[in-house]
Amino acid sequence: MSLPVAGSDARFPVRRIYCVGKNYVAHVAEMGGDAARDFPIIFQKPADSIVQNGGTVPYPPLTDDFHFEVELLVALKSGGYNIPEDEALSHIYGYGVCIDMTRRRLLSTATGPNAPWELKKSFDHSAPCSEIYPVAQVGHRDKGSISLTVDGELRQDSNLELMIWKTPEIIATLSKYYALQPGDIIMAGTPNGVGPVVPGNTMVGAIEGLGALTVKVGAPLGTA
Ligand code: MN
Repeated sequence: MSLPVAGSDARFPVRRIYCVGKNYVAHVAEMGGDAARDFPIIFQKPADSIVQNGGTVPYPPLTDDFHFEVELLVALKSGGYNIPEDEALSHIYGYGVCIDMTRRRLLSTATGPNAPWELKKSFDHSAPCSEIYPVAQVGHRDKGSISLTVDGELRQDSNLELMIWKTPEIIATLSKYYALQPGDIIMAGTPNGVGPVVPGNTMVGAIEGLGALTVKVGAPLGTA
């Protein structure tokens, strides 16, 4: 799986997708949590769950509450274990826009607050991602608007500077547990305003300086 590099014919090969949960105070609050700066929630999505810009996300099985979460995408060009926070930015190749598609409620035996994150987060077509904008073009993105519309209606509208765990902290923390490598991408958490979509909806995620990511929600797999 790979992502286009903005402004060139090159592609960025994706190795792993690491994700960070509960990284904006207002989103933690809307999920019913408190704003304590606890250890960040970390999970992964399979690299082959990527949906390209302009693509379609089929409505997944075993949910009736399928949510968007627009997030900053951080793409790494290098890695290693135990990366110091003050060196973390030097490992970033570029940035983009992504949507952490989430089965908020599961229609299965694994329902309720103890349902595994794996089933809610790490499923086919759950990772729409934009082109990668190299740092050489856009610099480092630690502030700027982040938004998502559904059928033209503004649903998420926040700013990257409200991230609880900043990108260098995320990289430093992840690298304590995993040997980060070139091609790893990070979904850096969503602001408030998350909500459901249904087949036929069009989502547009945007981050200031990083363009837009447009994906449609399609019919459930195995139907029309
Ligand atoms: Mn998320």
